[in-house]
Amino acid sequence: MSAGTLYIVSAASGTGKTSLLRALIEQTEHVNVSVSHTTRAARPGEEDGVHYHFVDKATFSQLIEAGDFLEHAEVFGNFYGTSQSAVEKQLNLGQDVILEIDWQGAQQVRRLMPQAVSIFILPPSSKALHQRLTGRGQDSEEIIKGRMDEAVSEMSHYNEFDYVVINDVFEVALDELKSIFKANRLRTPLQSIRHSAMIAQLLDPSENR
Ligand code: 5GP
Repeated sequence: MSAGTLYIVSAASGTGKTSLLRALIEQTEHVNVSVSHTTRAARPGEEDGVHYHFVDKATFSQLIEAGDFLEHAEVFGNFYGTSQSAVEKQLNLGQDVILEIDWQGAQQVRRLMPQAVSIFILPPSSKALHQRLTGRGQDSEEIIKGRMDEAVSEMSHYNEFDYVVINDVFEVALDELKSIFKANRLRTPLQSIRHSAMIAQLLDPSENR
């Protein structure tokens, strides 16, 4: 068993997942978000190797062929995948790794690594989600309706996850996410690795005379 834990975090776009995870990793030690590969174009402000590894479709297909992905999926017409070796390397170093992936990727990872801890983040209401998806008000009502339909389809998988966090008040949702990490780190298999020397000493009759 590796010392690090694999977390899956999914949400419909517009839920605030990325901001929550950014705050979580700033305030929690030994946890990183895995950088996925994608065939979609970088958005303004996104950096290659930081937000995603941006690759073309041919390169993405080669990575699939080579068995480099722990999971991969097509989401809204673009391809996304998680590098298996990068994730394993971090887990073996005792780092927790967060996969920010969709429900299809979550199902694949759960099958391969049933010990992964999965969290779904929901918005507080359809109205709040609609407002967040309307963004800067530059998109047509039809585009926004399409985004809402995609959001409902993603959210319909919430009950496949171990935990559900509702992002109404940011600080409350962040605190709830941190609680999941804290509690998981106290699980017996992890504590017995982390404190093996102390536990061995406690259980050694010669130490207790
Ligand atoms: P965006 O293009 O807005 O960054 O992400 C679109 C969707 O793709 C989000 O639901 C996000 O969670 C998902 N996604 C990002 N990276 C991966 C990945 O490596 N695998 C899978 N399955 N989904 C991903």
